[in-house]
Formats: sequence, C-alpha cells, structure tokens
Amino acid sequence: MSETPTHKRVLLKISGEALMGQRDYGLDNATVRAIAEDVRDVVALGVEVCLVIGGGNIFRGIAGAASGMDRAQADYMGMLATVMNALGVQSALEKQGVATRVQSAISMSSICEPYIRRRAMRHMEKGRVVIFAAGTGNPFFTTDTAAALRAAEMGCDALLKGTQVDGIYSADPRKNADAKRYQELTYLEVLARDLQVMDAAAISVARENKLPIIVFSIHEPGAFKEVMLGHGRFTTVRDE
Ligand code: UDP
Repeated sequence: MSETPTHKRVLLKISGEALMGQRDYGLDNATVRAIAEDVRDVVALGVEVCLVIGGGNIFRGIAGAASGMDRAQADYMGMLATVMNALGVQSALEKQGVATRVQSAISMSSICEPYIRRRAMRHMEKGRVVIFAAGTGNPFFTTDTAAALRAAEMGCDALLKGTQVDGIYSADPRKNADAKRYQELTYLEVLARDLQVMDAAAISVARENKLPIIVFSIHEPGAFKEVMLGHGRFTTVRDE
C-alpha cells in the first residue's frame, strides 16, 4: 500500500479525556506515550503536525459553574488545565525524539511560548510539532473551537479529531448496536442531526474555511498514520 501521505499539514485535536486511559482523572503515562508514538510516526511520514489538547480530564469550566463558581473564572481554570496537558504531551513527544514547541493563548513565558501565528508557522515548516495550549484564551469557548481556529490560521489541509470510536455514528455505538457509521457527512448534516462531533462554533469555523474534519479513533494504535495514508476507518465532514 502507498506510503504517500494524503495531507501536508494537519491539526490533531485530542480531548483531555483521551489522555486518561482507564483512570478517572488526570494523565495516564502509557496512554500519553501511545499517542506520542502515533504522532511521531505521522511526523516521520513528512506531515507537518500541530496539536490542540483539551482539559476535560482535569477541569471543565461548565462543571465549576454548576458547583457555584463564576463561569468565566472556571473557564480560565479549564484553560490552565489544557496547559498542564500540553506540557505532559510535549514531554512524551520529546522522549520519542520529536521536536516540539508549546504555544499558549494565555502568556506563560516561563514555561512556554506565547501564541504567535507566524512563529508557529515557522516551527511547523521546520518540522516541529506545535502544541497550542490554553484554547482560544477566552472563556465561554471550547478547545474544539480553538482547534478549528488554529487549523484555519495555520492553513492546515484538515482538522483531525481523535475520539473514542472510529468515526461518526448515528448513535453511540457503545450503547446502541444498531448505530450506523457514516463515511462522509456535510457540515450542515452534522449540525442538523446534532451529531455531537464538535460544538457548533467549531463546525462553523471549519465550514467557513472549507476545512475538512476527519474523525477517527485515537485509541487504536497506528490509526493516525493509517488515516494520513488514506486507509483505515474514519468519517470525513466536508461540503459536497
Ligand atoms: N476553555 C475555555 N476557552 C477555550 C478553551 C477551553 O474557556 O477557548 C475551558 C473551558 O472551561 C473548558 C476547559 O477549558 O471546559 C477544557 O476544555 P474542553 O472542555 O474543550 O476540553 P476537552 O473536552 O477537549 O477535554
């Protein structure tokens, strides 16, 4: 089978929960290592990769607000959680010999670079994996939206979302045996059927920028590389 990647530059969004493994909080080392190995293998194909990592394994603003906190304040805590995850993934990638930079939307100059678009572009051209931390830097947004935004800013050919299952289904396949997996969907179909792939703001940014969204399983070893070679199982969201 062909070893020529189908994309030149991509952004991979990984949710915080994907880093937890079997734990119910925080990061699981073996899981983070496995994801880092998959990213390493895609970088080795010559694909330029950037990452956005969520924070749901540590803190979600909405949960803080539900327990009585000010929502914006809780969201800032959520954004800080994404910085912790970004540093954890950076460390795992560097152990695999992958050159990385973390850029945060909230300035934290002692531990990472501030987000500077042109600088991020330059890192990517040099083959470094750029990890975008702190989401969009604004409360009331999600890291899905941050992923769509950064993918558009970086001129990525595709926005990849690594999830628990190998694509978008008509219902949760872990709960419903009749759930059907889609091969392709349009942005409007995802919104109209409320398919819960990414939030509506993220889908809108992708749609406006004609950025295909590719949904695949982050937990299947080697799946990221397979998707980049055009094989494997995934769902693509784009306009017809
Ligand atoms: N967050 C935010 N603005 C952003 C991105 C994230 O306020 O641009 C906060 C928000 O509180 C969110 C938390 O960071 O709950 C963690 O991000 P998210 O829920 O998107 O993580 P994931 O579900 O992907 O793990």
